Amino acid sequence: MLKRTVLIPFVTLILAAFSCGSQQATVTAGQGSPEFDAASAYGFVKAQVEFGPRVPGTPAHAACAEWLAKTLRQWTTDVIVQEFKARAYDGRPLEGKNIVASFDRDRKDRVLLCAHWDSRPFADHDPDPANHFRPVMGANDGASGVGVLLEVARCLSVRKPAVGVDIVLFDLEDFGAHANWRGASDDTWGLGSQYWSKNPHKAGYTARFGILLDMVGGAGASFPREGTSLYYAPAVVDKIWDAARKLGYAKHFVDRESGTLIDDHLYINQYARIPTADIIDYDERRKNGFPDSWHTVGDTLDKIDRNTLAIVGKTVLAVVYGEK
Ligand SMILES: [Zn+2]
Repeated sequence: MLKRTVLIPFVTLILAAFSCGSQQATVTAGQGSPEFDAASAYGFVKAQVEFGPRVPGTPAHAACAEWLAKTLRQWTTDVIVQEFKARAYDGRPLEGKNIVASFDRDRKDRVLLCAHWDSRPFADHDPDPANHFRPVMGANDGASGVGVLLEVARCLSVRKPAVGVDIVLFDLEDFGAHANWRGASDDTWGLGSQYWSKNPHKAGYTARFGILLDMVGGAGASFPREGTSLYYAPAVVDKIWDAARKLGYAKHFVDRESGTLIDDHLYINQYARIPTADIIDYDERRKNGFPDSWHTVGDTLDKIDRNTLAIVGKTVLAVVYGEK
């Protein structure tokens, strides 16, 4: 995932909202949803990391794909592995696998939940240049979003929401041009979501809206109202941030806008035309905006905070089970 443009942070204080918010506290958007288990989500992150970096073309990547499909099949019989070919920024051929798990597949009204499961082949933002061609473990950048969605999948198998749900785990999100690359680099990110958005797993597929998770496991994560999401899917952003605020997570789901980011949701919005918002740890006051471990060899399991996984997972469940 890559920073595209940077706007001046727009900080809004929601002082007025505090005065009436507490009186509504008895009715939460989380009613009716099964309990999100943070330890379980953490275990799913750990299991991915234990394969090693899930870099496309490696045995670890192949083994993790199998594990993801097998794990999802515990909770739904409708799991499709969508294989596709793509070309990397430097022209090398790549083979990808998008993994799609559907719940209540015949329901017309659906919600799309997604994250990328591949990890970046090179730590090109590592402080040590010697690491710039070593792979990223991707505990946060990749495995965290998938870990949350696997736990969400388990919850969906416990009690059905009023909508069908499709969980799509995208491949080849993070094979974008190396920081040293001098050629064109547009659209070298999100190759799996570009493919799926133009060739969905089911012809004519659509959903009411989508939620993308990326880097949702860091301690003290700060999720802004991200610019690309606001451009294409402002009502989805409102829906998610309202649910988070009602659950008491306004400290993490901050009322601050960020610049526009390139992530899988860009292509879902552009090509599949499903309004989709990104929940991503990003703060323009940081060096790169992203967490310090972003695209470094330091993106390891020790950076994952169960509490952050829980905050995101419970928010996603509140949104899904809040649909009528
Ligand atoms: Zn990344």
